[in-house]
Amino acid sequence: MIKIELADRVKNLPPYLFATIDKMKQEAISRGVDVIDLSIGDPDIPTPKHIVEAMKKAVEKAEHHRYPSYEGMLSYREAVAGWYKRRFSATLDPKTEVLSLIGSKEGIGHIPFAFVNPGDVVLVPSPGYPVYPVATLFAGGESYLMPLIEDNAFLPDFKAIPESVLKRAKLMFLNYPNNPTAALAPKEFYMEAIELAAKYDIILCHDAAYSEVYYDGKKPLSFLEMEGACEVGIEFHSLSKTYNMTGWRIGFAVGNKDVLAGLGKIKSNLDSGIFQAVQEASIAALSTEDSLLSGIRDTYQERRDVLCNGLNEIGISVKKPKATFYVWTKVPTGYTSATFVSHLLEKTGVLGTPGVGFGAPGEGYIRFALTQNAERIREAVGRIKKVL
Ligand SMILES: *Cc1c(COP(=O)(O)O)cnc(C)c1O
Repeated sequence: MIKIELADRVKNLPPYLFATIDKMKQEAISRGVDVIDLSIGDPDIPTPKHIVEAMKKAVEKAEHHRYPSYEGMLSYREAVAGWYKRRFSATLDPKTEVLSLIGSKEGIGHIPFAFVNPGDVVLVPSPGYPVYPVATLFAGGESYLMPLIEDNAFLPDFKAIPESVLKRAKLMFLNYPNNPTAALAPKEFYMEAIELAAKYDIILCHDAAYSEVYYDGKKPLSFLEMEGACEVGIEFHSLSKTYNMTGWRIGFAVGNKDVLAGLGKIKSNLDSGIFQAVQEASIAALSTEDSLLSGIRDTYQERRDVLCNGLNEIGISVKKPKATFYVWTKVPTGYTSATFVSHLLEKTGVLGTPGVGFGAPGEGYIRFALTQNAERIREAVGRIKKVL
């Protein structure tokens, strides 16, 4: 047996808290506990039928069985541009300003390789999607964490970033509607971010995975709706959360063509594109009737109301999110986010995600995902009530 040693970049990975949670969950299940898992950011609702039907037809076509094109089928990129036009009134050239991705996680994970040299800084929101700092680490960059705190509406405070850091910064990740805090960003915030990016030559990467999961009819903004956005950055998007397609692995990035060309260079050397049948089904997805999507939103809204009203009634104060399928709330005093999550699992079988798993500033919070039906969520609230 040879000596097998992990590379430093893998050895230096922060401990994966979610693996610990999964272990706790499996242990509870093996003890016979009926676990209500509200820790998963993966829609439980199936992909709409017309998309599945389009996939069935597409998979029969022999021309789709060969290698796809690197940048994605032009017809898929045209469908993306059409969707952006209808949804955000943003005009995109499908040939140069749209890049297909194998899920937005893939693009987010690869973009630092295109632009970050060892020692460069990447500005990363914390708590946040763990891929931002890990991708930065893999590329040899240094993450500078921008804390998202409640007193600042879970928006980073750009004025708190030292000038010396801004001068070394190459990329900045932002994500609204936000996972895990469920916060939205107003227009002024995006304008401030664009101004900062322009002043310091920072490539702005906005992750808009949840732009279509919103409540009370109030649509979130796209970064690309802002003046000057295309000069400083790109927006990552995904069909995963909008159309319940997490397993299909398809997304896209739009915006600045030089940034997309850089990311495309990395991708053409590493992957060989998305199965064309999936791209064809995704064209059908992007023209989904709004009534169907508003039905999905209504389902989440009902769940949100059951959870938030229920928790508020039993004395756990929560604010209703305006977007995303997450509820982000403080744990009771006397607990850390991790001890509260294990206490809750132990006493009630209800599983949430400890806020600290998304970064140190998430300590003191728990995230509940609305990815179980209203009945199960009602049951979860009932169980929590009994142990309070
Ligand atoms: C789910 C999620 C994504 C992307 O998922 P893909 O399935 O890879 O498109 C990206 N960012 C955030 C914040 C997410 O929660």
